[in-house]
Amino acid sequence: MQLTRTEIHLGGRWVRPDGTGTIPVENPATEETIAEIPACTATDVDRAVAAARAAFDGWADTGPADRAAALDRLHDALASRADALAETIGRELGSPRKFAARVQVGLPLRVLRGYADLARQPAPAETIGNSLVLREPVGVVGAITPWNYPLHQVVAKLAAALAAGCTVVLKPSELTPLVAYQLFDAIDEAGLPPGVVNLVTGTGPVVGAALAGHPDVDMVSFTGSTAVGRQIAHLAADRIARVALELGGKSANIVLDDADLTTAVKAGIGNCFVNSGQTCTAWTRMLVHRTRYAQALELAADIAAGYRLGDPFDPATRLGPLVSATQRDRVREYIARGLADGGRLVTGGPDAPVPDRGHFVAPTVIADVDPDSALAQEEVFGPVLAVIPFDDTDQAVAIANNSRYGLAGAVFAGDEQRALAVARRIRTGSVDVNGGSFNPLAPFGGYKQSGIGRELGVHGLAEFTQLKSIQR
Ligand code: NAD
Repeated sequence: MQLTRTEIHLGGRWVRPDGTGTIPVENPATEETIAEIPACTATDVDRAVAAARAAFDGWADTGPADRAAALDRLHDALASRADALAETIGRELGSPRKFAARVQVGLPLRVLRGYADLARQPAPAETIGNSLVLREPVGVVGAITPWNYPLHQVVAKLAAALAAGCTVVLKPSELTPLVAYQLFDAIDEAGLPPGVVNLVTGTGPVVGAALAGHPDVDMVSFTGSTAVGRQIAHLAADRIARVALELGGKSANIVLDDADLTTAVKAGIGNCFVNSGQTCTAWTRMLVHRTRYAQALELAADIAAGYRLGDPFDPATRLGPLVSATQRDRVREYIARGLADGGRLVTGGPDAPVPDRGHFVAPTVIADVDPDSALAQEEVFGPVLAVIPFDDTDQAVAIANNSRYGLAGAVFAGDEQRALAVARRIRTGSVDVNGGSFNPLAPFGGYKQSGIGRELGVHGLAEFTQLKSIQR
């Protein structure tokens, strides 16, 4: 498969960028450079925003049936490429092949279909007294996305924005940009009107910042780190542009004394290690009632040891590499710091064997973690679980809420009503009770420094609209 690309997608065509530089893309499992992509400039961003602006009025006026049909065609064009998309994500991110197919590609396909259905049935105009209240598209959207779910993060923004009647300029992560190119091949095949979606590639400080600060971008929809989200909010604030921010997390999984321990620990480890721990919603803190603590640690050690590291294309592999050498070194430093701060190594750790080549970190469980320490407070973004004991439910809730983040969480209890009562007390945008599964139609987003706004489903669509009142 030819992965190197020299062009960007503006106004419905592949064109040469203004920038002449290139950015190498690495396969993190082999450490080989597998492609190069253009390093765009602020001039390319200007051209892309102009194309999106020119397309806006026409797309905003498109009726529900036509918008839905375009999203359906995009879904079908992507679905016909599902194998190639999963292979690309396996190569640029190191996602194990099965996970890449089921989640990295399967989830965005479900999201696209869901938005086609929502686009077909637009929200009826509301009447409040003598006012007719309409929802209108926000305008031109700058979408900036991270590397960890490189197709899903893009589709979650793009599908909602298009369903709402907005036009889009996308800047994908420079670490995993290749699947976005395949998405634009599908956009061509689906025959979306020129300029409705545009692609610029490059680094965050150059291309991302130019897009976030562009005077003709009405809304910036960003997924990434809290540090960069803060910078983007500052740039948007200068011109009072709308932002939607999906940021970091440090989610807690509370295991109450009457929980089914095997289910809770197995699900907890699975959630923490999913995508090699590079998941914003990962339950990276496991809080266990002290009467079950020793047993939970034994189970955790056994389960974690069963996670096989290796070649993402080997069907036996459950954990691929981390995305980059920088990320791997960062995660290893967090493990060392967690142990230096008094944590007890249960399994894995800095000296556990990993493949010679590739940016691998062994699945690691650390017990007795101080809830105020760096390992319990900071987002690690690797396969590292911090386990913390508690003595009563109030203390568990206090530890869970002792975080500047508020993205996700979980509660396991024998009595579901008890679990639901605890879930209500957790200050996060979502909580799963007794293994409740991910719902791509439910609002997704964070409290506190985990973000502003919601993605997915009808609430995600509403983010890309603004309200107008007409008085009669
Ligand atoms: P990142 O913040 O470094 O980069 C995200 C995107 O922003 C990339 O496209 C990058 O090029 C761009 N960028 C970087 N600096 C920029 C700047 N100064 N101005 C404008 N754009 C800039 O994040 P990452 O390392 O790619 O992804 C990991 C982070 O994303 C984690 O913190 C994770 O929790 C978060 N994340 C959040 C969610 C969510 O939905 N809440 C989902 C996935 C990932």
